[in-house]
Amino acid sequence: MREPYKAYQGLLTERSTVAAVVFTLALMWSVDQITFIGAFFVGAVAAAFLLQLEIKRRMERLENRRSAIREKRKSKTGASVLLGAHALDRLPSPLMLINADKKIAFANESARELLGNDIVGNDAILYLRQSNFVAALDNILKGQYGDFGVIRYTTSKDRSFDVTVAPVLAGRKQQDGVRAIVYFYEVTSLLRTERMRADFVANASHELRTPLTSVLGFIETLRGPAVGDQDAHKRFLGIMQTEAERMVRLIDDLLSLSRIEMTRYMAPNAITDINKLIVSAINTVKTVAAERGVVLVFEQAEGVASVIADSDQITQVLLNLLSNAAKYADPETTVHIHTELTRTGKHVMLSISDEGPGIAQEHLARLTERFYRVDTARSRKMGGTGLGLAIVKHILLRHGSTLDIKSQLGTGTSFSFKLAIPQNKPQSS
Ligand code: ADP
Repeated sequence: MREPYKAYQGLLTERSTVAAVVFTLALMWSVDQITFIGAFFVGAVAAAFLLQLEIKRRMERLENRRSAIREKRKSKTGASVLLGAHALDRLPSPLMLINADKKIAFANESARELLGNDIVGNDAILYLRQSNFVAALDNILKGQYGDFGVIRYTTSKDRSFDVTVAPVLAGRKQQDGVRAIVYFYEVTSLLRTERMRADFVANASHELRTPLTSVLGFIETLRGPAVGDQDAHKRFLGIMQTEAERMVRLIDDLLSLSRIEMTRYMAPNAITDINKLIVSAINTVKTVAAERGVVLVFEQAEGVASVIADSDQITQVLLNLLSNAAKYADPETTVHIHTELTRTGKHVMLSISDEGPGIAQEHLARLTERFYRVDTARSRKMGGTGLGLAIVKHILLRHGSTLDIKSQLGTGTSFSFKLAIPQNKPQSS
């Protein structure tokens, strides 16, 4: 429904005014009352009215133009539009806006999650007390900008952020003063990777240095005090060979690991006979196992053969697990290699169980870390590199599988993993 005012306004147009003038003059003429003064008076009233209409229309046009300019200006102040639209709330990185009095004017969702839900309105220094942050904020709010270096903020939950403080104008003019934007860039995983790389280099160097030091020691003895001692020569050269072989194994394992990591995201697609791989691995390990009286027994599941696997890599998994069982199992015991179909029928579950000393629960989670050993001296004595289970874990990851370790002290340990069965008709690899 039209408002009465609008309806009234609709009548006040040039056309209706001219019509009213013509009608009045015609009426005056019809009753014989038309005079020059009367006609002039009607004309003057109509002209005044038309003038008023024109002024009103121009005023309206001017007002429309002004509001368009105001809208344009508003959209130019990007930050206020972003804040208004809550776009910054969705940013995965924490971000805050700090007023000249150091109170937090705005904090996005991530910042509230990091520092607390009720931080807005509080002093920023309450949350970030580091002297370099306080100094950067002070300088920026005083209008002194510069490079404040890396401001690192670490939470009690060990999350680390690099904090950037930057100035923003509080209004449109310089004299309106400045506010500060505080942006947090999370570096937790970067730092963790850096630490892991440093640890890895330190561990690998240590593992190589130990046999090298021993080889150098024997060379010195052979050239010095044991120069003419044939027995010592024979014994020391034997030890030197063992140490050199250990270094070769270590380097081979390191190269294997880096090769496996390079293919980490390329899922295997070959179809392989798992029984053949198991039998061949048993044949490779059984002589070493027999030296300690350990027997390897394969309990093969009916109707299980084809799996999707990289045969070289799964052979390496089997060799590492079987040689560990042969090394660590109690003498004169049996190692069981068992396969079975999972309940869904889509996987083969393979397990290798030994009757050994077992592994305490606190070690189980870390067992697949590089160079992690339960008993370092025993592992070294057995020729271990500390990389066997790390290699197993990475190969299985590539196969979309994980290594499950169950152990009971004094009873033994069981390592198991699943491999996918091809769902279409099998073709041999
Ligand atoms: P290593 O070369 O030392 O054998 P691995 O990565 O293969 O390195 O194994 C890591 C550690 O796990 C070993 O040092 C050993 O302490 C423990 N371990 C592995 N397999 C067994 C097992 N079957 N029984 C007992 N302990 C084991």
